[in-house]
Amino acid sequence: MTVIDEVKQKTDIVEVISQYATLTKAGRTFRALCPFHSEKHPSFFVYPEQQSWHCFGACSTGGDVFSFVMKKNNIDFGEALRLLAERAGITIPSRFDRDTRKDEKEKLYQANQAAAQYFHNLLLNSPQGEEARNYLSRRGFSSKTVTDFQLGFSLNSWEALQQYLMERSYTENELLEAGLIVASEEGKTHDRFRNRLMFPIHDARGRTTGFGARVLDDSLPKYINSPQTPVFDKSSTLYAIDLAAATIREQELAVIVEGYIDVITAHQNGFGNVVASLGTAVTERQVNTLKRLTRNVALALDADTAGEEAMLRCVGYENTLDTEVRVIILPGGRDPDDVIRENPQAWQDLLAKASPAIDFAFNMTTAKLDLSRAGDKSRAVSELLPIIAQIRDNIRQDHYLTKLAKSTGINYNRIESTLKNYLVKQKTKKPAHEPLTSIAQTSLSSALEEYCLALLLQHPELKNRSDELLPEYFQNSENREIFVAWQQITDLTSLKEKLDPAIWDKLDYLATRSLLSDRIESKYADCVLRLREEFLRGLEMKRAAIFSQEAETGGTAAELAKLEEQGIEVSAQLGELFARKSQRSKE
Ligand SMILES: [Zn+2]
Repeated sequence: MTVIDEVKQKTDIVEVISQYATLTKAGRTFRALCPFHSEKHPSFFVYPEQQSWHCFGACSTGGDVFSFVMKKNNIDFGEALRLLAERAGITIPSRFDRDTRKDEKEKLYQANQAAAQYFHNLLLNSPQGEEARNYLSRRGFSSKTVTDFQLGFSLNSWEALQQYLMERSYTENELLEAGLIVASEEGKTHDRFRNRLMFPIHDARGRTTGFGARVLDDSLPKYINSPQTPVFDKSSTLYAIDLAAATIREQELAVIVEGYIDVITAHQNGFGNVVASLGTAVTERQVNTLKRLTRNVALALDADTAGEEAMLRCVGYENTLDTEVRVIILPGGRDPDDVIRENPQAWQDLLAKASPAIDFAFNMTTAKLDLSRAGDKSRAVSELLPIIAQIRDNIRQDHYLTKLAKSTGINYNRIESTLKNYLVKQKTKKPAHEPLTSIAQTSLSSALEEYCLALLLQHPELKNRSDELLPEYFQNSENREIFVAWQQITDLTSLKEKLDPAIWDKLDYLATRSLLSDRIESKYADCVLRLREEFLRGLEMKRAAIFSQEAETGGTAAELAKLEEQGIEVSAQLGELFARKSQRSKE
């Protein structure tokens, strides 16, 4: 099993998507307002059995969990894979573990630093930077703050930065590697960051590793980051760690918040021990970065998600730090920026009230139960015991066992033996998660997709005939990755360089797998037709599933008509396809 399959097997698309959209169960599917386009009536659906999603609205597209995470976070396949792998507790060797020479890295730091300086000057001095300057002054940021954080502005231009840096003897290749410019499909390059407020990101040693960038209007995505590069890895980076390090050491406490603006507001108001996790959930690698400065870490969490976060991840952080992690609960949907700007003392108070993450999980769980009732007692045990079981420190583990015994009134020895049984069961359970469903498993790898790719890889001359084959016919994200890369470049060595190393094994297998060499063109044509057929059938099945659902639950007439129309369109395409198939079989 490849590492990609392993990630898929341990990932539930419903869990992942529910972090980004409010899913409601509808029959065998889940529905939500589409997280990619704005709409009033939900036309976004998740299919747990196929582990896939589809938007029947404006996007009219879909895919698997990788394509969702890629689209949602505006990241490439390799980054999505790492994000999901980390979530599933699987380690993937970084594509940059291969020794990048030291001076090459040095050059990338320099390019980033030169870019940061360029953006900073534009913010301070250019007429085009006025909107950004106004935004910052509305936020109440002082000019000292703007300088301390070296905030910047990127012009609304496709080549301004590239030109500026190439005039200063940086090569196109270096700028690509630093993630400052992007190569398009035709091989042209352009600036990655355009018309955005720029937040340079530094490592603990103050070297510029990458950027966060925010739009100045309501367009989406609101924030983008540098991609993973030899000097930038989002999952181990903490924003403002360079500025906060001294204060964190001094106060023996680090506070992790979510956003750039939260950090900047905190620092401006004298809370210099605050760093940010770059938008995603905190990772153990980030906690590890902090460990060199302090073992006392507090997470500022939203009241709605805090319980879950505390239960899911905090014990992991605690094991990394060898001590407990505290949580700061932000009142009702507000972020640290709001709280501090309104009243810095309120932040101080929240900090003082921060409680150990596990205590918080305890309170969350027991608050909704009546512990005088037998059923609720056993619920408390079944929810909290798995958390307690993860605690590596024996003394702390015992502390929480005692606490659980006391709060439920269950005999301590009974609880302790339940824990032991639980641990034994965990050990004998082979995979950490059971495979999701048989369907999800069979869809892990499609034989037809692979056969088609093997044909293409071994017969580059088919490129002339590949117009009819579309990326969306590949349901498997890694197959789709290989196909999209092949469309741009058929030479195997260059193709490999373009792809994430996690896909290399599969690429090698497909490129060398033995195929009969007769009637290649005809086999390929059949393959394309069959892939298209599977794609259309899949689409029709998904549409039909929600059509009946919509009809039952009183979808609007307009919505139903739209779905029906889409159905007619798909049927027409299938009809045309069958006609072509029968034509081919006669030939
Ligand atoms: Zn949509």
